[in-house]
Amino acid sequence: MKVGFVSLGCPKNLVDSEVMMGQLVARGHELTPHPDQAEVLVVNTCSFIDPAKKESIDTILEMAEYKKVGRARKLIVAGCLVERYRGDIRKELPEVDALVGTNELESIVALCEGEPSARNGIEPYLYHDLTPRVLATPRHFAYIKIAEGCDHPCTFCVIPQYRGAFRSRRFESVISEATRLFSQGVREINLIGQDTTCYGEDLGLRDGLADLLARLAAIETPHQKWIRFLYAYPNKVTQKLLDTMAANPSLVKYIDMPLQHSSAAVLKRMKRGASGDIFLKLLERIRRTIPGVAIRTSLITGFPGETAADFEELCQFIETARFDNLGVFTYSDEDTSSSYRLDAKVDGRTMQNRKRRLMAIQRKIARARNRSLVGAETSVLVEGHSRETDLLWEGRQPTQAPEIDGVTMINDFEGAEPRAGEIRRLRITESHDYDVVGTLLAPTERFTPLAGAPLINISPVPAC
Ligand code: SF4
Repeated sequence: MKVGFVSLGCPKNLVDSEVMMGQLVARGHELTPHPDQAEVLVVNTCSFIDPAKKESIDTILEMAEYKKVGRARKLIVAGCLVERYRGDIRKELPEVDALVGTNELESIVALCEGEPSARNGIEPYLYHDLTPRVLATPRHFAYIKIAEGCDHPCTFCVIPQYRGAFRSRRFESVISEATRLFSQGVREINLIGQDTTCYGEDLGLRDGLADLLARLAAIETPHQKWIRFLYAYPNKVTQKLLDTMAANPSLVKYIDMPLQHSSAAVLKRMKRGASGDIFLKLLERIRRTIPGVAIRTSLITGFPGETAADFEELCQFIETARFDNLGVFTYSDEDTSSSYRLDAKVDGRTMQNRKRRLMAIQRKIARARNRSLVGAETSVLVEGHSRETDLLWEGRQPTQAPEIDGVTMINDFEGAEPRAGEIRRLRITESHDYDVVGTLLAPTERFTPLAGAPLINISPVPAC
């Protein structure tokens, strides 16, 4: 049977799609990137904020058309939208033939084959190192989900309602999966979860993430490797974690740590605690421990009760903090979130204006930062030819995470022609607001090009 997948949402959802594709391929089914050739279409949805919900429904309706014009006989909807709106989907989207919740990934084969699903969707699910999985990312980088669910009480967030309580994967399961991925030629592994810094707490581990990173860094590989983790929770960033990152060259000097706001009053209403001053001290400790570290954060504008003074404080905070990468989202008033019941809602135009203002401040910071890099040398993971033109190659520095940060364009090279998956030195010769351009230097290690291409279509949406 030919099955077509569309995966929406964040990298955590992408791994779920890869697990479902792995099950199907393990049972002899074929994956196709062409929806008009698929007999079964699967849309893995996201639903944590309004724009994500809208994109999910639009994509479901778009794929439903292939049941009229293509070979598709069945349309299956999976993921977070199912967890939140299972009943509504059944009632309002008759085009949909079956539903797969986030704890029912292993029922995908039965549902595609028209058999009843054995999974009840109640048992919390988390894949492991023996779970069949098809990588949907380019062959040189991969995500590993090290935990699922979340126990934090952030009032604007509905993710714990449908991803469940926090649970870590077994230590050795992650190590064995990473070892296998590196042996298959993967150069960069990105560890993900709703909150990676809680890793191991439910297994009785103190500083579980630091210990896991140290073990991953010790994995023997015939080539350079990069290990990154995303989604750190600020008050879980320990000194041991920072020291471990500073001590291991293959742990990239990069921290993604959503802070959401800097006003103590707003953070209190978000049930996240802390304040801008506390965060500035944390940033100072991070930069002191890991020289040259890149720090990314995410912020929300328009949270209920955010005053003009709170917002001015936030503007001042990012001027001072000087993040390397920043994502800004407008508050989404989710009807099942506890912030939905808060007063002093901020109107949509004000939210958008505040988002634009923060991004304008950040653009200046990013431009100045990139300008200061001209002439410097850095490492680059070559991604392949640029998406814009074959005359350029595209790569990423350790300070640039996949899909969410700027890129490094390669317009010249010394020695061998650039190849996807190579890690080489580069001299930065030109800068733009979010991207830089440079010359790739001659290779310093032998490199075996990686065969094979991604299998499904992806469209990124914002991270939690
Ligand atoms: S925002 Fe992140 S940390 Fe907070 S509850 Fe949601 S998933 Fe958990």
